Amino acid sequence: MKTQRTRAGEMYDVLVVGAGPAGLTVAAGLARHGVSCLVVERGEHPPAGAHCLVVQAASAAALTTVGVDVAAIPSSAPLRRRVFHVSRHTETRPLSAPSLVVGHDGMTQLLSAAALRYGAAVETGADVVGVHQVGGLHGDGHVQVRVHSRDHPTLGDSNGAHSTEPRSGRADIRRARWVVVCTGTDDTLTRAMGLDWMPSHPRPVRWLGVNAVVTGVPGLGPEEEHIFHGPHANLGLLPLPTGGHRLFSVAADQARPPRDAGEFEAFVRRITGLPATLSEVGDLWRTRPGSGRAPAARRGRVLTLGAARRRLPLPVQCLNAAIEEAVHLADELAGVVHGRRPHHALEAHAVRHGRAAERLISEAWRMVDYATTPDPEQWLAKPR
Ligand SMILES: Cc1cc2nc3c(=O)[nH]c(=O)nc-3n(C[C@H](O)[C@H](O)[C@H](O)COP(=O)(O)OP(=O)(O)OC[C@H]3O[C@@H](n4cnc5c(N)ncnc54)[C@H](O)[C@@H]3O)c2cc1C
Repeated sequence: MKTQRTRAGEMYDVLVVGAGPAGLTVAAGLARHGVSCLVVERGEHPPAGAHCLVVQAASAAALTTVGVDVAAIPSSAPLRRRVFHVSRHTETRPLSAPSLVVGHDGMTQLLSAAALRYGAAVETGADVVGVHQVGGLHGDGHVQVRVHSRDHPTLGDSNGAHSTEPRSGRADIRRARWVVVCTGTDDTLTRAMGLDWMPSHPRPVRWLGVNAVVTGVPGLGPEEEHIFHGPHANLGLLPLPTGGHRLFSVAADQARPPRDAGEFEAFVRRITGLPATLSEVGDLWRTRPGSGRAPAARRGRVLTLGAARRRLPLPVQCLNAAIEEAVHLADELAGVVHGRRPHHALEAHAVRHGRAAERLISEAWRMVDYATTPDPEQWLAKPR
């Protein structure tokens, strides 16, 4: 990622914490409205590119309003249909609007290029460890942000502010009128601010994925995702723009989800009932899906966005919800910064997206329940 150095002592209109898709989208949107904006990212580079991202049509359209054309990413490929397999039954369903499958790295590069083009600064290798609000919502009110950076291992204690665990060394201070926290599923900072999630009860279910080249599964075409339903587990095969497939599954513990990439082949054979073989198998990731919403999305001049505020049981929904929310928040906050909107417009934004998050979370859990049903043939009886 290209970065631009921060100017010492500068008061930014907005400081964004986290340079994932959500943070970079909000930065591009703000900078495009002439808002001075600094993004602070703890990684030296954008987050590792293990995730392939499915950008839904509505999110791609929202991104065009912040000057980002996802289809321009060289490694992007359209996804036009889903093919469902239940027992011996196969059904193809076209998507009403095609999604785009894109690499995480390509996506991050495109978004950061847009943010920089509109004048935002991006500082990497800098961990935000605390925020301290000074002077309320009017006049000279602003936020002091403590940043622990490898270049500048300086500065002092939090002085009663919200801060993460004490660290050795010192930090720099950055100043901004507003702060937007886009730290994804890392909730350290939001928890320190008292914006902790209220997690739902965990279920005995795993969400897992791996990239591989698949043979022995007939009929896998380009531009289509195949989803096999077995008892207690499903298996998806998503074609990657760079070749091969992303294999993913929601599996109940009864389905004995694979514990490593080596076990994945046997799992694929079991769910598909086909003599599948896998080659060029990448790293397996496994996680227990969870969800939760913080009691608020705002503390004074500090706002939270995307997965930082709620986590979804299914990651694709999480990404797309975060992008759409980021685009809207950039519009609202730019209006507030320029004095065209009252700051309580931000509350309305939070309430609207909070309700949307609730709906999305319950829909995602419904999909998890269906994916892990002991009797997938129920699907055949569903009205369509
Ligand atoms: C294992 C896994 C697989 C996934 N696979 C897919 C997939 O196949 N398809 C799909 O569409 N989605 C997938 N997702 C989801 C997708 O990656 C996320 O929805 C998306 O990255 C969310 O974007 P974000 O900007 O909200 O958070 P993130 O991308 O997590 O970005 C948050 C950023 O904040 C930074 N940060 C955190 N704390 C601090 C701090 N204190 N100071 C400075 N920086 C900080 C982090 O380093 C990170 O760069 C997957 C997620 C996971 C975890």
